[in-house]
Amino acid sequence: GGYTACPPGKDEIGVSTWTLLHSMAAWYPKQPSDQDKEFMTNFVKSLARFYPCTWCATDFQKNVDLSPPRADTREDLCIWFCEQHNLVNKKLGKPLFDCTINKLDERWKKSSDPKKCQE
Ligand code: FAD
Repeated sequence: GGYTACPPGKDEIGVSTWTLLHSMAAWYPKQPSDQDKEFMTNFVKSLARFYPCTWCATDFQKNVDLSPPRADTREDLCIWFCEQHNLVNKKLGKPLFDCTINKLDERWKKSSDPKKCQE
């Protein structure tokens, strides 16, 4: 039942967070305003500060410092989050994702086969 679940662990928080981040990037404006860019950059910095897994947050902060968010266009942002996710994948020994916009949109924005992804 709905209200008896256990608190989320590191992996559940991870999958949920990546789902939100890649989806936000997928639906980010193609031509963002200066304020859009500023808010997105600040969102990423806040996330890196408050991410609820201390050592994950420490590494994420370092990675964001080395490669600051690219929020000039939707495509730039999608690819930037993909690269960030791949840094974590690499660290954890998981397969790397192909960070091309078509592959990212297929996974996070539109389905190549609509029947496959119907609710
Ligand atoms: P996830 O890695 O959560 O991926 C979910 C889905 O995203 C995949 O099934 C795939 O379809 C898609 N995907 C995979 N790679 C990409 C990509 N590059 N671009 C776009 N889509 C992709 N865990 C730790 O143990 N240590 C850490 O230091 C750590 N740091 C993290 C930092 C951040 C900012 C976040 C959000 C998560 C972090 N995690 C960390 C969690 C970790 O990334 C995974 O979420 C967790 O291990 C569960 O992995 P998963 O294999 O279920 O899929």
